[in-house]
Amino acid sequence: MPDKYTAVWVSHSSSSDFLRCPQLYYYQNVYKDPKTNHKIKVMAPALALGSAVHEVLESISVLPKDQRFEVSLLDKFHDLWPKFSGKKGGFWDEPTENKYRARGEEMLRRAYNHPGILKNPAVKIQEDLPHYWLSEEEGIILCGKIDWLEYLPDTDSVHIVDFKTGKHEEDESSLQLPIYNLLVTNCQKRQVTKASYWYLETNDELTEKPLPDLEESKKRVLDVALQMKMARQINRFKCPEGESCRYCKPLLAVLEGQGEAIGLDEYGRTDLYILPPKGPNMESVIL
Ligand code: SF4
Repeated sequence: MPDKYTAVWVSHSSSSDFLRCPQLYYYQNVYKDPKTNHKIKVMAPALALGSAVHEVLESISVLPKDQRFEVSLLDKFHDLWPKFSGKKGGFWDEPTENKYRARGEEMLRRAYNHPGILKNPAVKIQEDLPHYWLSEEEGIILCGKIDWLEYLPDTDSVHIVDFKTGKHEEDESSLQLPIYNLLVTNCQKRQVTKASYWYLETNDELTEKPLPDLEESKKRVLDVALQMKMARQINRFKCPEGESCRYCKPLLAVLEGQGEAIGLDEYGRTDLYILPPKGPNMESVIL
């Protein structure tokens, strides 16, 4: 078996970075600050909101179904919010933080009032980061955390559910469900028979999606993974847009010294930064 430490690890987020732009992939997934040997990440309000809501829902995913609501989701949210408060969450001012915190509360109120799958039996994959060899020959590992796996007793199968905290719907061409279907199929023993998104900001119910074909999924994901591997081998991560694209600007601003360091992520492997309010992560400024 090839060495896991030299393999190329591919996830939904790293592959979507690569497909958006190889240079963005480089800065978010490959680059390490030579001074700290850590990756870098720019904290922003939407990221803090998504992380906090996901963390609350993840905390109940490990509980037996009749214990999941013994402590209110809002209480859990309030308990962990200090972790994301102020600059730690990318917030420069209180009104913005209050607005994002209120959105998180509303999402969890919705989940509490319309629990649906959250009250049903769930399957929990025991690994912290589920992963398997997508191709041993090519040295490629597919990895990723799945938000929720509902157990469907009638068919002894599983239903993949992904929680969405952003305002935009997942693109139809996204590799998210192909990657999740491959991961769940290969990291536990039950068949996957259903997949859905839950848009927590707007919907009480899940949005069911067609389950991608496994063979076709493997071909699509491997094709992107091989491009990622090649880019790493030849160290070529080209910007296709020149100066006109917003995605890498916050990271480049940090590399130029405009960011303020705010500490390490929870695993101690990524340096977190925040950019000043007039920096490139601002949508607009009123003067
Ligand atoms: S500006 Fe270029 S390098 Fe940066 S994310 Fe956009 S396309 Fe990629």
